[in-house]
Amino acid sequence: SEERSLNFIEQIVEDDIANGVHGGRVLTRFPPEPNGYLHIGHAKSIALNFGLAQKYNGKTNLRFDDTNPVTEDTEYVDSIKADIRWLGYEWDKELYASDYFEQLYEFAIKLIKKGLAYVEDATAEEIAAGKGTPTTPGTPTPARSRSVEENLDLFARMRAGEFKDGEKTLRAKVDLASPNMHMRDPLMYRIKHAHHHRTGDKWCIYPMYDFAHGQSDSIENITHSLCTLEFIPHRALYDWFIKELEIFPSHQYEFSRLNLNYTVMSKRKLKQLVEEKYVSGWDDPRMPTISGLRRRGYTPDSIRQFCERVGVQKREQMIDLGLLEFCVREELNKTANRVMAVLDPVKLVITNYPDGQVEEMPAENNPEDASAGSRTLHFSKTLYIEREDFMEEPPKKFFRLGPGLHVRLKNAYIIKGESVEKDADGNITTIYASYLPDTKSGGDNSGMTVKGTIHWVSAEHAATAEVRLYDRLFKSENPGAEEGDFKDFLNPDSLQVIKEAYVEPSLLQAKPGDRFQFMRKGYFTVDPDSTPEKVVFNRTVTLKDAWAK
Ligand code: ATP
Ligand code: MG
Ligand code: MG
Repeated sequence: SEERSLNFIEQIVEDDIANGVHGGRVLTRFPPEPNGYLHIGHAKSIALNFGLAQKYNGKTNLRFDDTNPVTEDTEYVDSIKADIRWLGYEWDKELYASDYFEQLYEFAIKLIKKGLAYVEDATAEEIAAGKGTPTTPGTPTPARSRSVEENLDLFARMRAGEFKDGEKTLRAKVDLASPNMHMRDPLMYRIKHAHHHRTGDKWCIYPMYDFAHGQSDSIENITHSLCTLEFIPHRALYDWFIKELEIFPSHQYEFSRLNLNYTVMSKRKLKQLVEEKYVSGWDDPRMPTISGLRRRGYTPDSIRQFCERVGVQKREQMIDLGLLEFCVREELNKTANRVMAVLDPVKLVITNYPDGQVEEMPAENNPEDASAGSRTLHFSKTLYIEREDFMEEPPKKFFRLGPGLHVRLKNAYIIKGESVEKDADGNITTIYASYLPDTKSGGDNSGMTVKGTIHWVSAEHAATAEVRLYDRLFKSENPGAEEGDFKDFLNPDSLQVIKEAYVEPSLLQAKPGDRFQFMRKGYFTVDPDSTPEKVVFNRTVTLKDAWAK
């Protein structure tokens, strides 16, 4: 990946450095609004902003874009910081747009004094109607011709709380005939008598995104302000405010947002899923949030690797969930210890194995990593195997267990299927098999070869575990783009809970966040819901690309 060519943002930064723009200095910012938890889309922006700073010897500020008091909360601030650190990045300064409220107010006064801002009386609807259409100019409201003195007086009274929500706004006086609708006298301030998570009740006027973002960038001397494509039409306004205020010329660049199929990535929608209890919380392992992915078993590396592979483009695209899964599978293959876990157990009795005998079988932990060492498995007469690994009437290429069929038990012996016992409904309750004593793994001198190897656990030694299997959260590839309510496209089978799986007893010692490969079943991680009596596992991903089938 060191070999890849520069993305277009890196090219811009390299050109700026070469041309001595801002003395070659690089200062980026990551500007989340603390109104929800971070998702994988934010990871792309984080990787880009922090990655640029790392690559070009610069810095990145973490700036909370907290200009909307109604939706923001300290819980979100804390989770955002934890998630960025978990991804492996450290910011230079922790800043809050709300710390600039006084400065922004002064900026507004400066524009009023220059005749470039006015207090509006019209309602939101009237303002919208007066903006005209892309092909016809807007119509000025009577407020547009207010004197500077009157505007200064009214704006001070707005701040002082003399007006109710919506009664007045402050607008920039730009150009009602501009082909760019965002330039048609956009709002700068609105009145909101609401408690802010940091400034409390100090303010009842709050700056709009367009009047806060660029000015915050400028106050911090941000050199490269990166945002997603939908802000392209805002750039003219970003530049206009900076020019008219005569402040540090930060510059905005746009890249395509990350879209991932079979999920939604708007905080508003994710919040609905949480609040209406379609998921267990922001960190539900099915959520595309950083905290959800972490609980699912994703690693910081795999997410960074994913962002690297996705790259940075100027065009919108839909990324396949399979790519994210590929990235974590690739890493866990190298790092996760292999263990045996039987998810759908059926009892197997080895008829010719001595009652009460227990053998210790050495098992290597990770064939990809010799330093991972080995552990000891206990083998006995009664085992559990996977129900699907036995067939009473196996087809020709079934290389697992059946009457008369031979199969190897991983790290143990070759066995031969004999007979079964069934309950009244015809379900198999016990499988009987015999073992071949001279086929013990590591010391097999039987000369016998079999095509299949299956996993097992010893019934008397196994621990019971709960296992949670996940599927895509949505049935639709792009639920956000469907007609009607996106929640109608939730996948009803996205969670399958297995209450009694049997696992190697060593797993009782596992801690939340530990990761394993359950042989033949996928990669799993220990969920924080685990107790000393019962470990709960989340499947991170299957071993093979399930979507490729
Ligand atoms: P949402 O629509 O999910 O609420 P947002 O853009 O409003 O997203 P912010 O908290 O404002 O959320 O985002 C912080 C930063 O992350 C912004 O710079 C934004 O452009 C970026 N970002 C958000 N979503 C994505 C995405 N899907 N892909 C890339 N960057 C994103
Ligand atoms: Mg935003
Ligand atoms: Mg948003």
